[in-house]
Amino acid sequence: MKKLQQLLRNIDGKGYKAYKSIQGRYSFHRYEISMDYVQGDPFASPSKIRIVIPDAYRPIKDEWKQSKQRNIYVADHIARSVAKAIQAEAKQSRGSGKSGLIHIDQPGQEILERTAVQIKKEKTIICLSVGLPANGRRINGKEAEKLFFTILPSILKYSIFAIKDEEIEQSVQLADQHIAIREKMKENNWLAFVADGAILPRESGVSNRPLRKAVPFESPQENRVEIKLPHREEPLTGMAIKKGISLIVGGGYHGKSTLLQALERGVYHHIRGDGREYVLTNLDAVKIRAEDGRQVTSVNISAFINDLPHGQATTKFTTENASGSTSQATNVVEAIEAGATTLLIDEDTSATNFMIRDARMQALVHQDKEPITPFIDKIKQLRDDLEVSTILVMGGSGDYFDVADEVIMMDQYKPFNVTDKAREIVEHHPVSRQPVTEKLASDMNQRIFLPPSLNLQKGKKKKVQAKSLYTILMGMTTIQLQGVEQLVDASQTRAIAELLRYMEAKGILKQGKPLSSLLDDIEKIMDNEGLQAFAPFPNQHPGDLARPRRFEIAACLNRMRTAKVQ
Ligand code: ADP
Ligand code: MG
Repeated sequence: MKKLQQLLRNIDGKGYKAYKSIQGRYSFHRYEISMDYVQGDPFASPSKIRIVIPDAYRPIKDEWKQSKQRNIYVADHIARSVAKAIQAEAKQSRGSGKSGLIHIDQPGQEILERTAVQIKKEKTIICLSVGLPANGRRINGKEAEKLFFTILPSILKYSIFAIKDEEIEQSVQLADQHIAIREKMKENNWLAFVADGAILPRESGVSNRPLRKAVPFESPQENRVEIKLPHREEPLTGMAIKKGISLIVGGGYHGKSTLLQALERGVYHHIRGDGREYVLTNLDAVKIRAEDGRQVTSVNISAFINDLPHGQATTKFTTENASGSTSQATNVVEAIEAGATTLLIDEDTSATNFMIRDARMQALVHQDKEPITPFIDKIKQLRDDLEVSTILVMGGSGDYFDVADEVIMMDQYKPFNVTDKAREIVEHHPVSRQPVTEKLASDMNQRIFLPPSLNLQKGKKKKVQAKSLYTILMGMTTIQLQGVEQLVDASQTRAIAELLRYMEAKGILKQGKPLSSLLDDIEKIMDNEGLQAFAPFPNQHPGDLARPRRFEIAACLNRMRTAKVQ
């Protein structure tokens, strides 16, 4: 403590570079600060520090650490409380550049495994970024002293040292409940569960917060199930969606897409008060959409698309600019290659010619002239040959009644089970369209990504870098992830960028494994070593990382314009 104070006084008013001398570790009364990285100038990315708090000063109960799930929720809870305390302090005046800034990787509505707070065996680590104070380009030692000896202690005092055990306990209970719901889903072959009372719509297109005054979810009787949960007396009731093919129909603006979006996000767990805290979807569910203009590298889309004009091969389809239908076919095939067991599709973001082709069009345009086998002709094969389920929003075509196991109608934001009615309609209004019926092979796509594909430039310091939620810079090229809708947190994107760098450094692509087993390996590393495994410097501030799913990792590899595959 004394040492840091002395150092800061010594370098006060000197050129900013002199800050480098404070790199190292300093003991404070209840914690230690580890200055892992010190920025080179006031406008560079901020310095990285870790606060290490021994359990003696903020006891973390053993039972909170007993499962990975609980551990993640406790860490998440602490990260939120630190973020809140930082905001409360933020009204302080600041110097030039980013000086005086204190930042933690603040969680959004989802509870993700992230590096911001790490609960270890006998200590808790809080990872922060700070902008070391400057006047112009000179060190402002007094402000720095205030930052480390007044502001930071106050932030910690009102967050980690102030949280009551009962508050943390609540997060732990939610962790247990989420696990219990997932177990029940598995036991009963449910793809999704949407609790009664859930609030599905969001405040706006750019906000992930619940819409106020929304109509709460109310399950249709035919789908209503009850789940007994730990830490809760009343059982939870809600709608279960079974494996198979489920159709969501209904008039425009009646809440179809909102339900599907809630299901898309249900692969993650949400905080209490989000409205979707009891909306859960199979972890292997992948949103499929049309994504015109995306890069495609050697994907076998022949199950859906054949005989393109000019004889372009579709068993190894490659393009820098896919169309609506070819991009959607690619997204289906790639999702299955990566291990998806459920596909989520919305008509709003689909290519019509990929989804449907009615009898009249079949009569006019002969099969031989149409490269596309529409999804409607594959959806049953996906279910029966590959055990891949589909939940599909389709308000515009009744052709799907023929293939649906269940039909849910949204009416004024309330779901009704109209499966029997839809069956009747199929009987009374048969359609004469001709289905296509070849089998699907489970190994329709099995690519091996080759090492030079990353094409990183030697000698450059930051070769791979996440620029935003949907953009990764890699050497001279960018990877665009706008179409990857289940990527929800920029820290996941950062983790993927770090992972790309890690794979390059460790020569992992050289092992020549098929994508699916490569993803298995990556998940194993994250399970065993945590996200820190991908950080460039072991045992230091790992950067602000959150765990991505295997599907979003695959999505990134799949969209690299420089990818080469075998
Ligand atoms: P659809 O896909 O059926 O056309 P959307 O899901 O896009 O309809 O919903 C239309 C609008 O209704 C959106 O603005 C959405 O926020 C709102 N909305 C959806 N569900 C609810 C609800 N339960 N309560 C209130 N508003 C809702
Ligand atoms: Mg819609």
